[in-house]
Amino acid sequence: MICYVPAETSPGEMRAALTPTTAAALIKLGLTVQAQSGLGSASRYADQAYQDAGVEIVADPAAALAAADLVLRVRKPSDADVAALKPGALHLSFLDPFNEKDLLAKFAEAKVSAVSLEMIPRTTLAQKMDALSSQASLAGYAAVVQAAARVRSALPMMMTPAGTIMPCRVFVIGAGVAGLQAIATAKRMGARIEAFDTRPVVEEQVKSLGARFVKIDLGDTGQTAGGYAKQLTPEQIAKQQAGMAKVCAQSDIVITTAKVFGRKAPTLVTKDMVAGMKAGSVIVDMALETGGNVEGAVAGEDIVTANGVTILGHTSLECTVATHATQVLAANFAAWITHFWDEEGKTLKLDRDDEIMQGSLITHNGAIVHERFAADAAAS
Ligand code: NAD
Repeated sequence: MICYVPAETSPGEMRAALTPTTAAALIKLGLTVQAQSGLGSASRYADQAYQDAGVEIVADPAAALAAADLVLRVRKPSDADVAALKPGALHLSFLDPFNEKDLLAKFAEAKVSAVSLEMIPRTTLAQKMDALSSQASLAGYAAVVQAAARVRSALPMMMTPAGTIMPCRVFVIGAGVAGLQAIATAKRMGARIEAFDTRPVVEEQVKSLGARFVKIDLGDTGQTAGGYAKQLTPEQIAKQQAGMAKVCAQSDIVITTAKVFGRKAPTLVTKDMVAGMKAGSVIVDMALETGGNVEGAVAGEDIVTANGVTILGHTSLECTVATHATQVLAANFAAWITHFWDEEGKTLKLDRDDEIMQGSLITHNGAIVHERFAADAAAS
């Protein structure tokens, strides 16, 4: 079975779907592993390191793509790349399936089995392959590092003969995987942290990291069976905004990570709230790829408002730590493959009864098979 890993083509994408370590593990399983030259150059994995691990660097990437049984890549492929795949091939990547209905149809048309990393269930068994978590955790860390570099204040308290420097105040909105890592990072750097999340279970986690949980009574919020936040009503969002305005006004750094799985992110920091913040403070909107939490934030751009607030618009903060983001992401791919590897047949067995397969396999045998997207496809 041939596994081919093309170099990423999306602008700004610095990660790769393979490291020399995971290549060695896949080869040990029995796969032939091929890669495009330069695959790991942005994440600091050299062609030679892949070759030393047993990877074949291909001379003709188009031919390799067309011949592969298994293709791994970080970002979704172009329509042309999907059409170039051979029928029966398996393709693993992030797919943004809620927004990419046409792409899903293209995969089905090409008779390619497409796995979406976003849809891997957040269960204990699937933890090793949970790419959303591995990347969100690094992004949460990177958000604090990027904000700290822009804020022009020190994060820790410092008692000096020339006077006391008070600690930076950091407000984290949304304390899931990224938010909790942002809290932990800011704490290590000595900041004073406050946080808010609509899922009540998060309060204990926030407190255990040494942050204060901001109390805002929104009525029933709860969470889905999968552990995700539920969408709030417009009234609840207005209450939340009012409850957070004062905390934002007092903060030097605001990091927003509030997402609602499969839906647009809620607008939580309004223009008025930004206008009420201190000059020199910094906002990082980590929900920009799904619409953003901050009014006025622009994907891919850093904005400085009239009152001197910087709003960072980085859409893939994990790429600022691409070496480690690649290390753990490639390990997620390898864990998925290992889970479904048939040792005897030396091939992948797409066990449709397996919960992880049911969660992550979107197309198979010429059809959209995932229950969440099959209905959409039938309706359109
Ligand atoms: P996410 O990226 O979908 O959302 C980020 C955070 O934003 C969440 O904590 C969510 O509650 C919060 N949020 C949504 N709307 C908000 C609002 N209006 N105001 C404030 N906060 C808001 O979430 P995630 O980080 O991917 O985590 C989702 C869930 O999955 C969590 O329960 C997490 O603990 C769980 N999880 C479980 C496992 C596992 O068991 N293997 C692994 C990873 C994550």
